[in-house]
Amino acid sequence: MVHKDFIAFGRPAIGVEEIAAVERVLRSGWIGMGPETVAFERELAAFVGVGDVVTVASCTNALFLSLKLSGIGPGDEVVVPSLTWCSTANAALYLGARAVFADIDPDTLSVTADSVLAKISPRTKAVIVVHYGGLAIDVADLRRRLPPHVAIVEDAAHALGARYPDGRIVGSLGTLTCFSFYANKNLSTGEGGAIACADPAIAERIRSLRLHALPTDAWQRFTNPSVATTGLGLSELGYKMNYTDLQAAIGRVQLRRQDEFAQTRRAVSDFYCAELAARMPDVAVQADVTAPRHAHHLFPILLPRGVTEERRNQLVAALRQQGVGASVHYAPLHQMPLYAPQETLPVTEDIAARIMTLPISASLSPDDARTVIDTSIEAIQHMLASA
Ligand SMILES: *Cc1c(COP(=O)(O)O)cnc(C)c1O
Repeated sequence: MVHKDFIAFGRPAIGVEEIAAVERVLRSGWIGMGPETVAFERELAAFVGVGDVVTVASCTNALFLSLKLSGIGPGDEVVVPSLTWCSTANAALYLGARAVFADIDPDTLSVTADSVLAKISPRTKAVIVVHYGGLAIDVADLRRRLPPHVAIVEDAAHALGARYPDGRIVGSLGTLTCFSFYANKNLSTGEGGAIACADPAIAERIRSLRLHALPTDAWQRFTNPSVATTGLGLSELGYKMNYTDLQAAIGRVQLRRQDEFAQTRRAVSDFYCAELAARMPDVAVQADVTAPRHAHHLFPILLPRGVTEERRNQLVAALRQQGVGASVHYAPLHQMPLYAPQETLPVTEDIAARIMTLPISASLSPDDARTVIDTSIEAIQHMLASA
């Protein structure tokens, strides 16, 4: 049982419609990958404004398949941010490539075209950008400035519905763009992911690789009895990374509710911003946090310079003790043994020691938001006073 009084950092908003959708699929007799998944993919493609969306079991899988489709292999380098979840860098490692970390902008908390270009070597074959917290970076500009043979993959786990600075929606540029439907993401189906892509041939390759590179999938065999055989003619090693209709049924409802979710998240974010500006001006917030193009997946704050990582960690622990699910996104990857050796990243290291995130979700009530901000401001003031 989830603790009742604990305000979790990203509790999903699940209602009667999601529950009814799961029941409908459970009663249908087909709970694997089938018609719900096909419909969800079409609806996602329309939402993102791109030719194709292919669902997979996770965003981690989506990143892996995107790099694989970009031709990444042993000896290659993939440039990634360090202030991100391990999936971003691990996608490169699964393929025998090396993750090379680029520094971030202290205001947007994402990599920039300049910081990425500084890490390009003759071995660089791809870049994965992360739209930190739901604030999309200018991918079109990065594309213009990168050598043409270097692929761009977008880790848009935070950025479903977010818009680039030029107003286009994330995923619509034709770059392989990866979304997550993990439990705490803006669209949640427990687990799940998807790749948006503009090239139908690439989409077909992903559809094949996500399910053992079978010539036909189980649903096609079910709906077309003349296709009786399973796995005849395998010529390539594929994977078991498919989505299911149980998840897709939830996802279709969650997709229809994205406007409602975005409004709630924005209201929470705007409330936090106003309270911090009035009562805690020494605490910084992300650039463009009030811009309508921001997807408000995370609400990061930066404690004043001079606050040590140890005191930040004590603060987060104290808040959790008081029922506020504050968190740290993220422990910087470039300092972890798995990715060693790496160069130092001055901005990332400064930010990573002072950053913390406040709970934000589409299920956070105004009362909870008030509790979060009052408790947090009090705890920060207490910490600063006892310096
Ligand atoms: C959540 C997340 C992922 C991984 O998503 P899964 O669906 O859990 O595999 C990847 N990148 C970032 C930035 C994330 O926040």
